[in-house]
Amino acid sequence: MRPGTEPGRSSSGIRDRDWDAAVAAIRSVPLDAEVQLICHVNPDGDALGSMLGFALGLRQLGFTGLRATFPGEFDVPEPYRALPGADLLVEEREAYAEPALILIFDVASESRLVGLAGRLDGAAPVVVLDHHASNTSFGDVNLVDPAAVATSVVADELLVRLGVELDAEIAECLYVALATDTGSFKFVRSPSVHTLAARLIATGISPGEIARRIFDTRPFGAMKLAGEVLGRALLEPEAAGGHGMVWTYATNADLERHHQRPYVLDSLIDPVRGVAEADVAVVVKELVPGEWSVSLRSKGGVDVSAVAVALGGGGHRLAAGFTAYGTPGEVIAQIRPLLDANLA
Ligand code: 5GP
Ligand code: MN
Repeated sequence: MRPGTEPGRSSSGIRDRDWDAAVAAIRSVPLDAEVQLICHVNPDGDALGSMLGFALGLRQLGFTGLRATFPGEFDVPEPYRALPGADLLVEEREAYAEPALILIFDVASESRLVGLAGRLDGAAPVVVLDHHASNTSFGDVNLVDPAAVATSVVADELLVRLGVELDAEIAECLYVALATDTGSFKFVRSPSVHTLAARLIATGISPGEIARRIFDTRPFGAMKLAGEVLGRALLEPEAAGGHGMVWTYATNADLERHHQRPYVLDSLIDPVRGVAEADVAVVVKELVPGEWSVSLRSKGGVDVSAVAVALGGGGHRLAAGFTAYGTPGEVIAQIRPLLDANLA
């Protein structure tokens, strides 16, 4: 059954009673209560944009005790540092110990909360906003719409249901989130995405300026680093049942040589996935010695979410990831048989 055709479900595919429970959870806490917003480790544009856009909506409603955070090193990627609402960001250790309410953004499973996962065991209701098919429903209220292109689509609908009026600051955050997870609107699945984009742009934000800042600006060293990492890519035409795989890796030594922060590696999957001879693209990024963050992409020949889930991670059918151990060659050796086992 298509989303929207089932009784009790809105066009989002999320049940009305879940929307109502989320609205009730937010309305039930006093305006001066401590409200903790959290997004996933190594936050991207959707994680930060949906979290900060939602926080600004709560601020508009009069909430005064808002803090937003993410686990791990407090390294906000440069393109997102000037997002509206960034003043609400605090380091993990400054997160409320016992908040009255916890709101979680773009997190498919508790493992993506790393050291902050323990906070979920307290008395506070946990409301999860997400769009990963692999979401494990770890919240008390789970607003999870796998058909949504970004978590910001879910955040926008909850803001509407709370009576928040869209302003340019909220819109900029939600637009950055939407543009990030749609690959600048290349992976749009429904006209509703552009309807939302139109509403956001109508507040006066500048899509061209935002796109230049978020996608088309990088330090010289990051460009040189990309040249090296892409230069060592390998093509395996026989992989994935003959659909082909292209892969490369990047180490902390690569980052140090070019004086770059780890997040600059996250965009390298885009040129790799463009290789015509391969359906599957993989970038293996060193976290600490022997531990790697792996990005997987498919053009449709393989369900890479299933591959990632089998290796302890998650994501979407065409974009997924997981944490791996060993050498880059050993990581790829783990992936190869799973590609053959998960042909679409
Ligand atoms: P990226 O490759 O851009 O980091 O992530 C692609 C998709 O896979 C995103 O939707 C992201 O949330 C998901 N993903 C990446 N790494 C992990 C991981 O370690 N665990 C889980 N559950 N999902 C991941
Ligand atoms: Mn997302």
